[in-house]
Amino acid sequence: MRAQDGAIVVAGAGGFIGGHLVAELVRRGERRVRALDRKPLDEWHQVHDGVENVVADLSRLDACQRACAGASRVYQLAADMGGMGFIETHKAACMLSVLTSTHMLVAARDQGVERFFYASSACVYAADKQDDPRVSALREADAYPAMPEDGYGWEKLFSERMCRHFREDFGLETRVARYHNVYGPLGTWEGGREKAPAAICRKVVEAIVSGDPSIQIWGNGEQTRSFLYIDDCIEGTLRIADGDEPEPLNLGSSELVSINQLVGLVEQIAGVRLTRYYQPDAPIGVAGRNSDNTRLRAATGWEPRVSLREGLEKTWKWVHDAYLRRYGGRLGPRAEAPLGAHARQR
Ligand code: NAD
Repeated sequence: MRAQDGAIVVAGAGGFIGGHLVAELVRRGERRVRALDRKPLDEWHQVHDGVENVVADLSRLDACQRACAGASRVYQLAADMGGMGFIETHKAACMLSVLTSTHMLVAARDQGVERFFYASSACVYAADKQDDPRVSALREADAYPAMPEDGYGWEKLFSERMCRHFREDFGLETRVARYHNVYGPLGTWEGGREKAPAAICRKVVEAIVSGDPSIQIWGNGEQTRSFLYIDDCIEGTLRIADGDEPEPLNLGSSELVSINQLVGLVEQIAGVRLTRYYQPDAPIGVAGRNSDNTRLRAATGWEPRVSLREGLEKTWKWVHDAYLRRYGGRLGPRAEAPLGAHARQR
C-alpha cells in the first residue's frame, strides 16, 4: 500500500493542536483522516465533518491497534498535559502518557504504518541550561546530558528515544518535533490546564469584566519564553512529518519575551493598563527558554514567522469572545486564589 492510500491518524484530535491539525489536513484535501481522543466528542475543541471521529482511550493497546489499522501515517499528540500549573502538580499523570506513546508505537509497527510523528516538548531540555532569563537559545543537543522537567519532560524524552529505536530496530519512519509553548484560538483558557498566553488573556478579560484593574502574575514576571502561534505549529508539524530529518527538531519561535512583556502586549491589545501583583510561590518552570531554529531551517527550509503581536491579537479576541459567550457580562469563577501575603505589587 502506498503512503497516500492509508488513513491518516491524529491521536489527541480533541485537543488544541490536534484539532487544528485535523482542520489543516482536511483543508489540504486529505480524505481519510481518523481523529481520536479519549474525551467525549462534546468536549473536543474542534470536531470536523468528513472525518472519522473516534472516542478511544489510547493508553490501551487494543484501542491503538484499532486506531492504526489500515493507516499509513500517525500523528501522536495524545498526552495528559497542561501549563506549568498542571504539569508541576500532576507528574505521575504526565508520566502515564508513556502508555499512550508506547502503545501507539507498538500498534503502528504491527499495523504496517509507514510514518509516525511524535509531538515532543521543549520540556525535554536540561534544567541547568535554562536557569538564566537571558538565555542563549536551546539547540537540540542541549537535551543531553539529560535532566529534563520532572515528570512531563522525562516522559517526553523517553518517548523520543523510543521513536528513535523503533526506527532503528523495526524500520518505522519516525519524526519528532519539540514544541515550544504553542498558543492560539480554540485552546484551553481556563480550568487549570491553560498556558501563559491564554491565561493572561483571560485574566485581562476578568479585570475588564470585574472592574478591578489588577492582574496576578506567577513568579516575578522576569522569566522568559518564546511562544509559537498555532498556524506555525501546524505548518512546522507537517513539514517535519513529511521531511527527511529523523532526529528531533525544535519547533518554536525565536522571539524571546519575558512574562512581563507578554502581559504588556496583551494590555496594549486590550487597551487597558493593570496593576500587577506577583506571586513568587506560584509554579513558573525554568527561568528562561528560547528556540534555536538552525536545524529546523536546514531540515525544512522554513521557520515560524507569525509575530507574537499578530498571534496575540487573534488569541486575545478569541479568548475574550469565548469568555463572554460562556459567562455573559458577568465574572466567571476566578482561577486564582485571593492575593496571599506574598503577593508583591509592581
Ligand atoms: P491538549 O491537552 O489540548 O491535547 C491533548 C489531547 O490528548 C487531549 O484532548 C486529551 O484528551 C488527549 N489524550 C490524552 N491522553 C489520551 C489517551 N490516553 N487516549 C486518547 N486521547 C488522549 O494538548 P495540546 O496543547 O494540543 O498538545 C498536543 C501535544 O503536543 C501533546 O503531546 C503535548 O504534550 C505536546 N506539546 C504541546 C505544547 C503546547 O504548548 N501546547 C508544548 C509542547 C508539547
